[in-house]
Amino acid sequence: MTIDPTLLEAAVRKVLAALPADEKPSASGDGVFDDMDAAVDAASTAAKNYRACSLAERRRFIQAIRDCMTMPENLDYMAAQAVIETGMGDVAHKYLKNKFAAENTPGVEDLETSAWSGDHGLTTVEYSAYGVIGAITPTTNPTETVICNAIGMLAAGNAVVFSPHPRAKNLSLWQVRKLNKALAAAGAPANLIVTVSDPSIENTNKMIAHPDVRMLVATGGPGIVHTVLSSGKKAIGAGAGNPPVVVDETADIAHAAKCIVDGASFDNNLPCTAEKEIIAVDSIADLLKFNLLKNGAYEITPEQAKQLESIILNAKGTGPNTAWVGKPAGEILQAIGIEPPAGVRLVVFEAAADHPFVVHELMMPVLGLVRVPDVDAAIELAVELEHGNRHTAIMHSRDVKKLTKMGREIQTTIFVKNGPSFNGIGIGGEGYSTFTIAGPTGEGLTRTRNFARTRRCVLVDDLNIR
Ligand code: NAD
Repeated sequence: MTIDPTLLEAAVRKVLAALPADEKPSASGDGVFDDMDAAVDAASTAAKNYRACSLAERRRFIQAIRDCMTMPENLDYMAAQAVIETGMGDVAHKYLKNKFAAENTPGVEDLETSAWSGDHGLTTVEYSAYGVIGAITPTTNPTETVICNAIGMLAAGNAVVFSPHPRAKNLSLWQVRKLNKALAAAGAPANLIVTVSDPSIENTNKMIAHPDVRMLVATGGPGIVHTVLSSGKKAIGAGAGNPPVVVDETADIAHAAKCIVDGASFDNNLPCTAEKEIIAVDSIADLLKFNLLKNGAYEITPEQAKQLESIILNAKGTGPNTAWVGKPAGEILQAIGIEPPAGVRLVVFEAAADHPFVVHELMMPVLGLVRVPDVDAAIELAVELEHGNRHTAIMHSRDVKKLTKMGREIQTTIFVKNGPSFNGIGIGGEGYSTFTIAGPTGEGLTRTRNFARTRRCVLVDDLNIR
C-alpha cells in the first residue's frame, strides 16, 4: 500500500493541532534545533504556554534548574569541560562560579509589585514577561552565564534562545539538553530554553533579527554589545572592562596583596570583574610587591615582559592573543623560559602607565604594577585606564574620603573596597550573584526584574477597602 505524503502530513498536523500546546513535541525534544527559525518558533510556543503556569509552578521550575546545575556530577563536568573545550580558566574556580550562579541568582521573588489604592480604586504595577529573549553568552564564563540568564529570564516568565560562543558549543548544547530534561521532569512547558546545534555569528544575527525575539541580552565584548544595541530592539549590553586596583598608603598592605592575588588569579583572570592592573602609591609599592610575592605572585623584569609581548598580545598589539587568554601563570612563565615555582598564581611586573598589558583587557594572570606619587594621581590614572567602561574598580584604603573620591570619579557599576574583585559579584561578599553585568545599558548587576517589562493594571473605583 502506498501512502500519499500530502495526506500523511495533513493527518499529522491534525493530530498536533488537537494536542494541548504544551504537549507538542519539539523538533528534537531536547531544546537543541538545527535551524534558528525553528528554535525561535519553539521558544515562542513555549513562552505562550508558560503564561498559563502559576507562580508556584514557575518557582518549581527555577528550583529544578538550581537542583540540576548543582548536582555534584554536573558541577564537576561543567568545570572540567569548560577548561577542556575553551582551553581557558581554572577547574576549581569554575566549579565555584557555577555553584554560586545556581544558588545565588535571584528568582521569582525579585518581581516585586507596586500598588496604589485610594478613592479611585486599585492600581498595580507588575513585572511581566517579554516573551522570547535572545541571550548571547561569552566563552569566558560559558556555563555560568547560561545558568544565571536561564534562572533570571525564566523567573521573569520568559523563554530564552541561547546563542553561545562557538568555542563553548559542545558544553553549551550539553547544558541546554540537561536543563530541558530537568524542566520536563518538573512539568514545565517544552522548549523554554533552546539553542541551535551549530552556534555561529550567522545564527546569532538570525536570532537578533527574528521578529519573535522581543529582547536581547549580550554578555561579551564591545562588538556584540554594539550589535545588540543597534538592533532596534530592547537590549541589555554587558560589555568589557579593564578593572584597575588602587592601593594607597593607608591600606592594610598585607591584606591588599592577598586580595589582589586571589582576585586577579581567580579563573586565571577571565572574569570581566577581575583586577587587570595595579596602581600603587610609591611609598608602599615595595611593601606591596613583597606581599604579592609572598602570596603566589612572581615578578618578571621589564625585559621579560617585553619578551612576553610578542606571545600574549595579538599581531597588532591592540589586545590579547586569544590563544593565551585564561591560561595559568605557570604556562605563561614557561613561554618565556622561566621554570615556574610551585604554587605560582600571578605574574607581576613594574610597568609604565601606557604599557599594553596595563592598557588592554588581557584576561590572563599578568598584571602590570604602576607606581604613582600619591592617591590622587592613582585615582586619576585608574579612571583613565578603565576607559569609561564603567565596569569594575577596586581600591584598598582606610581613608574614607579617598574611597569616596574614587567611587565618585570612576563611576563603575561595581566598586569593591578592601576585598578581592570577586566579592563584587557576591562570591564572598554580600549581595546576589550575576554573570551579566550591564554597565553600558545601566541595569548593573542584572537580576530577574531586568528581564521583565512593567505593566500597569487599573481597577477603577473598587477594591480600595480602607
Ligand atoms: P566575544 O565578544 O568574543 O563573544 C561574546 C559572544 O558574542 C559570543 O557568543 C560570540 O559568538 C558573540 N559575538 C561576538 N561578536 C559577534 C558578532 N559580531 N556578531 C554576532 N555574535 C558575536 O567575547 P568573549 O571572548 O566570549 O568574552 C570576553 C569578553 O566579554 C570580555 O571583553 C569580557 O570583559 C566580556 N564579558 C563581560 C561580562 C559582563 O558581565 N559585563 C561578562 C563576561 C564577559
